[in-house]
Amino acid sequence: MTQHDTTAPEGTGLDAHLAFARRMDRIDGLGHYRRRFVGLENSTAGTDATDAPSVVYLDGNSLGRPTIASVERIAEFLTGAWGTRLIRGWDDEWMQLPLTIGDALGNAALGAAPGQVYIGDSTTVTLYKLARAAVDSLPARTEIVLDTDNFPTDRYVLAGIAAERGLTLRWIESSTTAGVTVDQVRAVVGPQTALVVLSHVAYRSGFLADVPAITAAVHDAGALVLWDLCHSVGSVPVNLDLDGVDLAVGCSYKYLNGGPGAPAFGYVRAELQPDLAQPIQGWMGAADVFAMGPGYVPAPGIRRFLSGTPAIVGMLAMQDTIQMIGEMGIDQVRAKSVALTEFALELVDAWLVPLGVTVASPREHTHRGGHITVNHPAMRQVTQILWEHDVIPDFRAPEGLRIGLSPLCTSFVETYQGVAAVRDVLRGILLGQAGLAPAGGL
Ligand SMILES: *Cc1c(COP(=O)(O)O)cnc(C)c1O
Repeated sequence: MTQHDTTAPEGTGLDAHLAFARRMDRIDGLGHYRRRFVGLENSTAGTDATDAPSVVYLDGNSLGRPTIASVERIAEFLTGAWGTRLIRGWDDEWMQLPLTIGDALGNAALGAAPGQVYIGDSTTVTLYKLARAAVDSLPARTEIVLDTDNFPTDRYVLAGIAAERGLTLRWIESSTTAGVTVDQVRAVVGPQTALVVLSHVAYRSGFLADVPAITAAVHDAGALVLWDLCHSVGSVPVNLDLDGVDLAVGCSYKYLNGGPGAPAFGYVRAELQPDLAQPIQGWMGAADVFAMGPGYVPAPGIRRFLSGTPAIVGMLAMQDTIQMIGEMGIDQVRAKSVALTEFALELVDAWLVPLGVTVASPREHTHRGGHITVNHPAMRQVTQILWEHDVIPDFRAPEGLRIGLSPLCTSFVETYQGVAAVRDVLRGILLGQAGLAPAGGL
């Protein structure tokens, strides 16, 4: 038996949860995408054979798996576009790539018409540039609204901008097991508000914020809103145009499988673009890049948000996932994501809650993104032991184990295997023995 073998002991038959997981994998319309990922080529998910991935991966929301198509695309890039076209590559395709990929992403996953999305710098730097441009465009307003449980880099960047521009940070106290509500936003915005920055899906709890309602509340106060889509892009549909969102940023290395350090995207609503001046004015955002003129004149349109030479190599892999999402439709991706988190919660209730674990994520799927977090004082140790056994969830201090379920490549049986491993390790710790304890002990 391999470590992740889920064959039940002789004569006992499959347990009901495993039987359910197998049935779900069989009817999963997206199931065949699993075999398009590196290491999963021979996955038997959806068949009668027991699937035994070498790694049970529950952290695709932190760093997505690579696709096989990306292996080919990157190899071809080295020997083809870069290796043979050399500097001509910029004229061939690369100058346009930040915008063509941006448009494709906008179409597949963001509800954004062309000309509003670009691939740029890291999320941190993209956030800085767009937030700075936003507050500078409303100089009479003095406050930036943010929440206490937003991702650290978001809070740090905004604190830096506030210091730089003499603005005040107005904090919303957000629950670490839920997230920011429209009522909380309404209570703090006013004529003094320049910008509100929130995450669509909270990185810790998985809470799914109400983008249309909160965006409308911010606009009622005459302010701008910037949504951080890091934990939603590629798993939860977004309708940026329809909802009237002003600005958005998001990662490409999480659900978009762009690879470690792949550059982030930025969205700037078309009507706003002419009025926004971004703070890192570089030659790649200039109206005539190769004029090499004496002064900076920003390009019309979304290109003005570029700064230096685009990270072309980092933009290769994300294209394959964007293409897959476009193929199947983001609504189908979301449907599977919801089914995966529902199933994970069912297993948590059946196996982990009796061991003293609490659920730190919304129970209503309409308020939940693509991951769930479960709390227990032993989770740091549990995560460490699981990683040694090739079961990879994430740990978020002080005591949260985060289970990320990437809908294109995670199967229901893999979800079963992962939560079962959490159960076994936690049970082993509670019984005073570290390691994977045999099932059925407590
Ligand atoms: C992952 C994540 C980031 C990461 O920012 P980088 O600049 O890519 O390191 C930022 N914000 C949120 C909400 C995230 O989830």
